[in-house]
Amino acid sequence: MTEASHHRRTLRRSADLAAAGLVAPDKLAEIDAVAARYAVAVTPVLAELMEPADPADPLVRQFVPDIRELDGASGELADPIGDHVHSPVKGIVHRYPDRVLLTPILHCPVYCRFCFRRERVGGDEAVLGEAELEAALAYIASHPEIWEVVITGGDPLMLPATRLCALVAALNAIPHVAVIRLHSRVPISDPERIGPALLDALASADKAVWLAVHCNHPRELGPAAREACRRLTKSGIPLVGQTVLLKGVNDDPQVMEALMRAMVANRIKPYYLHHLDLAPGTGHFRTTIAEGQAVMRRLRGRASGLCQPTYVLDIPGGHGKVPVGPVYLDGNEVEDWQGGRHAYPPASVVAPGRSSC
Ligand SMILES: *Cc1c(COP(=O)(O)O)cnc(C)c1O
Ligand code: SF4
Repeated sequence: MTEASHHRRTLRRSADLAAAGLVAPDKLAEIDAVAARYAVAVTPVLAELMEPADPADPLVRQFVPDIRELDGASGELADPIGDHVHSPVKGIVHRYPDRVLLTPILHCPVYCRFCFRRERVGGDEAVLGEAELEAALAYIASHPEIWEVVITGGDPLMLPATRLCALVAALNAIPHVAVIRLHSRVPISDPERIGPALLDALASADKAVWLAVHCNHPRELGPAAREACRRLTKSGIPLVGQTVLLKGVNDDPQVMEALMRAMVANRIKPYYLHHLDLAPGTGHFRTTIAEGQAVMRRLRGRASGLCQPTYVLDIPGGHGKVPVGPVYLDGNEVEDWQGGRHAYPPASVVAPGRSSC
């Protein structure tokens, strides 16, 4: 950590955001009203990547509060993906047979304004106590069908390295757990946190430890973030990318293409493009699924196969994630990457009367 970055603080109050030039002085009351409802934090590294005083800037849009967050739209849900229905013990969500979510901490270095767990992150009961974590680990140990543990939050890389190391060791010791996956925005939101102790904690397991990096705009991958990703891959941690489709941030096909290319060039394999969940006060970020499919089509037509995530919807009510297209096969016709249509199987192959040898 440089001397300069050491002294920079996370911006949490409206006055901090105004002092950094990220909100106009006449908007302070609006920011305070949103902050009374939802957690607010902008890290210095992200603040520096923002265009000051431009509410349309894709980074400002993602992290600086907006009064529209207090608009309630019909159909929005406090628990948009039904975590609660599938939680057998505190800190565990067991929706699919072979994998569970483990949420040891609900704090994040930054609070995204569209967060799907916005009703829970940053609150008072944000860290699992020791006994609660023991109970969650006991649940995993007693369910041999659990092949993978997805550590999420909040942001699990907010845990002190010693606690993370203990958690990885505990999971590593459960014979039927083959894969440990962490979902984090820290490589983007607080890259300096990815230091030797944290890297050692992740690399300490015999089992595969994967990291899914949440990244929504190419400018998020500034120099510090890129270096943090490099430290992770050098430590043997494979990186996959998760992106949330957001109006005014990455719903432009050119921005999406640049983002996917930036991820792959930084050794992050795009994994999921999430259709935005129905969290409260996120209507100003929502696109239609048809718009998402159009973005995906353009990506398929223009970029390397490595740049293709799967576009998924997490079905409200806890029914899980499914791909939502686009679909290239239509009956006996398949569409190519340029929009041309072809019979499949080709007519010549199925022509009757053709001899077989
Ligand atoms: C998203 C999610 C997972 C992980 O799903 P993958 O498709 O394997 O990435 C697991 N459990 C729950 C409850 C989830 O919401
Ligand atoms: S980092 Fe993830 S959990 Fe934290 S606020 Fe952003 S979306 Fe929510």
